Amino acid sequence: MNKNISTILGCNSDYQSSSVVVFGAPYDSTTSFRPGTRFASQFIRNESWGLETYSPYQNRDLTDYNVFDAGDLVLPFGNTVKALSLIESFTKEILNDKKIPLMIGGEHLVTYGAVKAVSDKYEDLHIVHFDAHADLRDTFMDEKLSHATVLRRCWELTGDNRIFQFGIRSGGKSEFLWGEEHVYTNKYNFSTLEEILNKIKNYPVYLTIDLDVLDPSVFPGTGTPEPGGVSFHELLNAVLLMKNINIVGCDINELSPHYDSSGVSTAVAAKILRELLLAIQ
Ligand code: MN
Ligand code: MN
Repeated sequence: MNKNISTILGCNSDYQSSSVVVFGAPYDSTTSFRPGTRFASQFIRNESWGLETYSPYQNRDLTDYNVFDAGDLVLPFGNTVKALSLIESFTKEILNDKKIPLMIGGEHLVTYGAVKAVSDKYEDLHIVHFDAHADLRDTFMDEKLSHATVLRRCWELTGDNRIFQFGIRSGGKSEFLWGEEHVYTNKYNFSTLEEILNKIKNYPVYLTIDLDVLDPSVFPGTGTPEPGGVSFHELLNAVLLMKNINIVGCDINELSPHYDSSGVSTAVAAKILRELLLAIQ
């Protein structure tokens, strides 16, 4: 008999031979509105078995690649600094072994832990950020570390003109004004994504996908739903463009499965994950 293990569909290769390592970061301590993203990675694992390993969009099959599912990190709720440092050191280990980390959040703050490790390794790191929210506040509820400040913290690591945001349709006026000086923001959609990717294709890129970039009609299972988002096809096409990009790390975050009793949001997240896994190979 074989070991009874449940990995993400098609991610059952051993660590050594894998070029991509998937892991869950089930943390949602700073969530300001509706919590629950801590459940995302386990729900996605389960849901992934309803998918095919083959993608007709890319004519690629997960079984043709080696991906290791490392399971979920054990992160202490209530100790944000420690949780982020555990994510950072785990990501560092993957990078040291010359593999690509793909993290499943968790709230969006988990990205900061991964980006710390990735920006340490790649001095000229560029970040592509899909989200409904700018996430550029300096503090939120007087806290520096929050899902609402995560891209601001990342900016402190990369500096000006290295962060490229798409789909943004919510934030404070001061966030947008600050953003104009320091980052690139494509509001509402992906209209300039191809052009921007063309400009940065020779640099290492970290891709962070806050799934609430999707319209709540497609993806209601999230803590801070924001009407006016992109369609599934728009996000899918954006992910497919990553085939030509030097992705050195990535994440999907902010699925909060219990807010969508139909389960469709989890199915959407699992399918985006499959396409992302195939696109970065
Ligand atoms: Mn976000
Ligand atoms: Mn968001």
